[in-house]
Amino acid sequence: SGPLVSAVGRLLAHADTLRRLGVQANADTPEDAARARRFGAAGIGLCRTEHMFLGPRRALVERLILAQGEQEVGAVLEELLPLQRADFIGVLAAMDGLPVTIRLIDPPLHEFLPPLEELLGAETARERALLAAVRRMHESNPMLGLRGVRLGLAIPGLFAMQVRAIGEAAAIRVRDGGTPRPEIMIPLVGDVRELALVRAESERVLAGIDDAPPIPIGTMIEVPRAALTAGDIAGQAEFFSFGTNDLTQMTWGFSRDDVEASFLPQYLRLGVFETSPFETIDRRGIGRLIELAVKEGRGARPGLRIGVCGEHGGDPDSVWFFHDADLDYVSCSPYRVPVARLEAGRAALPRR
Ligand code: PEP
Ligand code: MG
Repeated sequence: SGPLVSAVGRLLAHADTLRRLGVQANADTPEDAARARRFGAAGIGLCRTEHMFLGPRRALVERLILAQGEQEVGAVLEELLPLQRADFIGVLAAMDGLPVTIRLIDPPLHEFLPPLEELLGAETARERALLAAVRRMHESNPMLGLRGVRLGLAIPGLFAMQVRAIGEAAAIRVRDGGTPRPEIMIPLVGDVRELALVRAESERVLAGIDDAPPIPIGTMIEVPRAALTAGDIAGQAEFFSFGTNDLTQMTWGFSRDDVEASFLPQYLRLGVFETSPFETIDRRGIGRLIELAVKEGRGARPGLRIGVCGEHGGDPDSVWFFHDADLDYVSCSPYRVPVARLEAGRAALPRR
């Protein structure tokens, strides 16, 4: 009702005056970005670009899978470029004036390849070729497989196409009188050399685009090894964002997609877990990796901007942890933005 809504609004506005943590949202579409803004998000902390390759663009993804040699790959990427440019113009316009952290494609292959069952009755030559490709690319552990930066380095031109689309979208927004603030984020980095390669190529691409504003390049910290080598990685990153979903999965060594339907309920009953480690930050586990990465990252690069964009970014208890760990911002689903604002304010109050 009206009075309740305005009371909550006043409470959140008060929390905003107290809190030190910034609150952004995870959003991939202009609609989600607009919703996030209405809930008070100060930007997009995670725009997952793999979602942009589903739906009607599956046909292009299939062509990419079937492409033989760099020339054919290049031809598909040429077709993807204007589509991606339009995607980024949309989110940058919806978040005009605020940062938009665009993460380069990070698809677990099993979510992108056509399901094997669908192809088993393959009849046409194209279906048979697809079946062979899907069999060839099959992985036993797709979440530990050819994802993120690994895919970007394995398919030459893929990340460069996205970086070009981001740079060109920003330039178009500038010419239209907007204030685009894109940032580029590299997923699943485990070693500084992966990041250095992508960064060098991205800078080459961006240098050739007129009118684009400066675009910071940073990295997800979501592989335990990235947290352990954060000092090295900071040398190549203008910002860090903790991906606590993968960091939890890889630190515990269990699958984020399976645990709920598997042993998690029993662990909660037995008291091994008080809450799911995928919901509430595990202070003895990934919490220590985060503290280490903050210390070593800022030791190597003073003032390094650090956020979080995993599910924990909108969990009340975890928000307190991120405040204490001296992060700069949390990013969560648009609907959790108000809770994150409130808890970030409460966490900043003096404690008994
Ligand atoms: C994460 O791993 O926490 C993350 C934000 O990335 P994704 O959920 O897309 O793997
Ligand atoms: Mg991740």
